[in-house]
Amino acid sequence: MSEKIKIIDSRIEKLYSILTSCELCPRRCRVNRIKGEKGVCRAGKELVVSSYGPHFGEEPELVGMYGSGTIFLTYCNLLCVYCQNYDISHLGIGEPISEEKLAYIMLSLQKMGCHNINLVTPTHFTPHIVMAIRYALEKGLKIPVVWNCSGYENVDVIKQLEGIVDIYMPDIKYGYSEPAKKYSNALDYFEKCKEVIGEMYRQVGDLKINSKGIAERGLLIRHLVLPDNLGGSEKVLKFIAGISKNTYVNIMDQYRPCGKAYLYPEINRRPTRKEFIEVIKIAMSLGLHRGFKRI
Ligand code: SF4
Repeated sequence: MSEKIKIIDSRIEKLYSILTSCELCPRRCRVNRIKGEKGVCRAGKELVVSSYGPHFGEEPELVGMYGSGTIFLTYCNLLCVYCQNYDISHLGIGEPISEEKLAYIMLSLQKMGCHNINLVTPTHFTPHIVMAIRYALEKGLKIPVVWNCSGYENVDVIKQLEGIVDIYMPDIKYGYSEPAKKYSNALDYFEKCKEVIGEMYRQVGDLKINSKGIAERGLLIRHLVLPDNLGGSEKVLKFIAGISKNTYVNIMDQYRPCGKAYLYPEINRRPTRKEFIEVIKIAMSLGLHRGFKRI
């Protein structure tokens, strides 16, 4: 039996038990999802998946030649008003599936040549996903598991993923509480993010890339530049540089108004080129050098 399976077997019961008074994320709704109660994310007892397949739009170190094996989980615990996947996260588009079926999907992505299993917005389905990883490991899953999350996580749950997740890929969306409250109803977003990303780094360290240019293990942070510096980029990047100047940080310029962004004039536009370059310059001045194109 592999080391990972042993680790999962020692933790899986505890993880599923959280569903009876859900505290999988910092919202701590304490609803009994096993009995059908729903919290902020609206996820219930059953695992729900929206789509899956090889994805070529992720970071080159995840995509390689054959793509990142992306699995989009339905619902979300953060629910940003401008979400780029609004139909999946807010509207709950997806199909309930079993943990065994999710394991089968993971194995089919591996068979297609994907370089990793990229779990998009996994937080609210942590127990189900860990169970599916166990089934997949038993049947030969070898590629790294990527935890592609919003950064709004419960640190005690992340501790339970040590030795199971290979690559953590959290967003850091805001450095200040005011926009975090206004656009994601998460006043404590940055505080929780800092705590949890420190733990992720402790577990996996800086991103390690093999001789073929493929990410194998480590931390990869994403920061989406918002209009009017609403993401508090300087504060965010200072925090990242404080973890390690070798942190891989993808500074992203693709924000566009989606979902309910039209209700907020200040975010109802794309960031300008000037705003984006300003953030890159800050990152460079802090000594960060991985994950973004320097200018
Ligand atoms: S995962 Fe969902 S139900 Fe559980 S605490 Fe978070 S928002 Fe609430």
